[in-house]
Amino acid sequence: MKVSEALQKGQPTLSFEFFPPKTAEQEARLFEVIAQLKDFNPDYVSVTYGALGTSAGQSFRWVKDIKDKFGIAPVAHLTCVASSREDINTKVKELVNIGVENILALRGDIPEGLVEKASPADGCRHACELVAFIKELYPFICLGVAGYPEKHPEAPNLESDIKYLKRKVEAGADYIVTQLFFDNGVYFDFVRKCRDAGICVPIIPGIMPITNYKLLRKMTSICGASIPKELLTQLEKNQDDNEAIKKIGIEHAVRQCQELQDAKVPGLHFFVMNQAGPISEILKQLS
Ligand SMILES: Cc1cc2nc3c(=O)[nH]c(=O)nc-3n(C[C@H](O)[C@H](O)[C@H](O)COP(=O)(O)OP(=O)(O)OC[C@H]3O[C@@H](n4cnc5c(N)ncnc54)[C@H](O)[C@@H]3O)c2cc1C
Repeated sequence: MKVSEALQKGQPTLSFEFFPPKTAEQEARLFEVIAQLKDFNPDYVSVTYGALGTSAGQSFRWVKDIKDKFGIAPVAHLTCVASSREDINTKVKELVNIGVENILALRGDIPEGLVEKASPADGCRHACELVAFIKELYPFICLGVAGYPEKHPEAPNLESDIKYLKRKVEAGADYIVTQLFFDNGVYFDFVRKCRDAGICVPIIPGIMPITNYKLLRKMTSICGASIPKELLTQLEKNQDDNEAIKKIGIEHAVRQCQELQDAKVPGLHFFVMNQAGPISEILKQLS
């Protein structure tokens, strides 16, 4: 099933995002995690892709397993940084041969010291070029793109970022999935600004339950997501107690998702971090 079709069903979509694990033990655990979360009937499951394509084989194998072994519609993430159009075409062909109908088209982070190699002359410099390239060769593929409610770290301001987000949609993106955020006000504001800018496609909120204080601080320092003051104080007070942090994280995510559902968002996309426990708890409390 295409994400665009799921979005037209009139009910909010439910989706999960995983990353390909590195060890055999983690792989076995991820199989269990997906099997557990399958009970919640996700509309689709997406699999991340290493920015330089180094984990492409792993990523595509999980995409295939999610489709064939679990019977869930997969979304393959694909980045274009440091790739020629020929490389990109080879990868997309591979995905089409697996039977993939959905791609999340991304530029990818530019690795430090690789700025020159990041955009070869025959490559795609930005995600909008990747979207246009795939759409022209494979018009039947449903394409998603990333959106940043608190702006992309490289963007000078949100207005500029939304201007380029619009280009991704004009190039053929069917939907947007957002970077994680912890303050719904930030998402609602972003959606309003996108609509004002003429972006009409569904904007699916990305939710990451907080499970570990140090990991949270690391991730937010990279992606720039802000933490509401009250939540931060609570987390700081309990930073050495992982169980307390998980409890606070789950309670916050339930409140966030409830409010988003009440506001009739098109779907909920969970950054699962390859752990079933917190997501299961949140979904049980929500239903
Ligand atoms: C839901 C989600 C999933 C992700 N999955 C992955 C993954 O699997 N693998 C991975 O490596 N990374 C992933 N990322 C991270 C993403 O690759 C990085 O944030 C990357 O730095 C930007 O990718 P993009 O597709 O948003 O790039 P772009 O849309 O190209 O934007 C990058 C920057 O360039 C600016 N820009 C865009 N177009 C233009 C233009 N035409 N001219 C000038 N400036 C422009 C934008 O404002 C922005 O600041 C994900 C992010 C999200 C939100």
